Amino acid sequence: MTNKNEEHVDIVIIGAGFSGMYATHRLRNYKVVCLEAGAGVGGTWYWNRYPGARVDIQSVEYSYGFDEELQQEWHWPEYFSAQPDLERYANHVADRFNLRQHIRFSNPVESMQFDEVENRWHVHTANGDHLLCRYVIAATGSLTAPNLPPWPGRDQFKGDIYHTARWPAEGVDFAGKRVGFIGTGSTGIQAMPIIAEQAQELVVFQRTPAFCMPSGNRPLDEEHEQDWKAHYQNRRKQMLETYGASIIEYPTATADECSPEQQAEILEQAWNSKSSFQLLFAFRDVMTNASANELVCEFVREKIRSIVKNTETAELLCPTTYPIGGKRLCIGNGYYDMYNRENVSLVDVKASPIVEFAEYELDVIITATGFDAVTGAMSRIEIEGSNQSTLTEKWAEGPTTYLGAMVSGFPNMFMIHGPSTPAAQAQMITTGEWQVNWTADIIDSMERDGLVHIDATEEAEQQWAQEVDMVSEQSLHKFAESWYNGKNIEGKKGGFMIYVGGFPRFAELCDSAVANGYEGFIRK
Ligand code: NAP
Repeated sequence: MTNKNEEHVDIVIIGAGFSGMYATHRLRNYKVVCLEAGAGVGGTWYWNRYPGARVDIQSVEYSYGFDEELQQEWHWPEYFSAQPDLERYANHVADRFNLRQHIRFSNPVESMQFDEVENRWHVHTANGDHLLCRYVIAATGSLTAPNLPPWPGRDQFKGDIYHTARWPAEGVDFAGKRVGFIGTGSTGIQAMPIIAEQAQELVVFQRTPAFCMPSGNRPLDEEHEQDWKAHYQNRRKQMLETYGASIIEYPTATADECSPEQQAEILEQAWNSKSSFQLLFAFRDVMTNASANELVCEFVREKIRSIVKNTETAELLCPTTYPIGGKRLCIGNGYYDMYNRENVSLVDVKASPIVEFAEYELDVIITATGFDAVTGAMSRIEIEGSNQSTLTEKWAEGPTTYLGAMVSGFPNMFMIHGPSTPAAQAQMITTGEWQVNWTADIIDSMERDGLVHIDATEEAEQQWAQEVDMVSEQSLHKFAESWYNGKNIEGKKGGFMIYVGGFPRFAELCDSAVANGYEGFIRK
């Protein structure tokens, strides 16, 4: 049955964040439409405009490498750029490569059905668009769907409530306000020190304390910029050969191989390295050996005790229930120092969880409560694959994928940074580009070979799940409740959703599947 609203295109890309934008560019030889929920490009960097939002990977790395002129002409003002600069960069790329002609803004995808006879996806959007396409690429992001705990009393609260991932573009005036802040993850620790300087009072409601190391952000010096610009090509290649697609100092020694004096020196250097995450790479076995990890934990606890003057507050801020790195390490500017301010207080909500918004006299409540991560954006779209099976049913016990790219029973649908990819364990712009290229090559090969249908087998999906489990068993990540394993959301099922075997191994497995005659795929 044809409908007069139907539009036929080759490829629908969902999301105009960094991966979706690059996919739109890379696949522009096809008839491509990119559907975006927001009113602008940038994805994460469009939505997360809270005060202090800043990337925690060096900007020279956290940027596109697909176009040499782009990387030569662009100037990052700081080592770790702030949200406005990242959004400006996303807009520059959209203009420079004429991407906007393909993007439909403020137009989220609501549902999709696969037509097995025609080998087409029907894609329906909030604005009433009905697109028929041969392929869908979901570049929906790992941290897209905000987690909004359903606290009673929310509606009765007379002040304003904000989630950091839905921050008003015009900003918020905190002058003279009593602000309550819920959430002490990467977002909270960035936003709070700035809000504390502006508000009359800041009350922090902490469920689990964070490990946080100083970012060492500073203006980007010309020498460093020129060095990167002279060597971009090699550096990008080198990045993809590292665990996290990021050039930092990777250690060769385990903690045990160092004397106590050496350990202390290495940890102090890592703390002051101005290189994010270096603490997790102080020794080779920080994420695989509990006693090496505890050494780093205690080093950070000692830092907290030395910074925070009130001893009771300092102890409350010391994480004791999970390994450092088990939840993503926070990178901040003055987070612990903030607790020495007269107008900041800390409330422990672990012992007595927040049950409703009633007890405190506050003008504003900010929730930095994270995301229904990895699967959230996809789960909020009604997706119906082969035999009317839905993705919600398929993922009821947790997400399953093949190489993080396809879900068996959902043909011609690819994901970038999908469940069981390295996602935020690796630098997401460069690895997103890599995954887009890998996906685009598969689509190109389908065209070349005159094929119309590609799916993953159930067996391949199971084997990938075993690989993902095998590498996560070797790491200490499993001892933390975090968005990596969905334990941050009450009732969310499934295991570890991130591939922690390192980007090189991930890429090699993806490449070899293709090289071995599309092993694990069904193509027809
Ligand atoms: P998050 O790490 O999941 O932290 C959410 C915080 O909210 C946690 O402290 C959590 O406590 C708390 N929370 C959630 N529900 C709660 C409840 N019902 N009651 C009390 N507290 C509650 O989220 P995020 O801080 O937004 O960061 C998510 C990820 O985004 C990061 O891990 C990182 O990958 C990325 N990010 C990156 C940057 C950067 O590049 N600089 C900045 C921000 C975010 P529990 O720990 O007890 O669950």
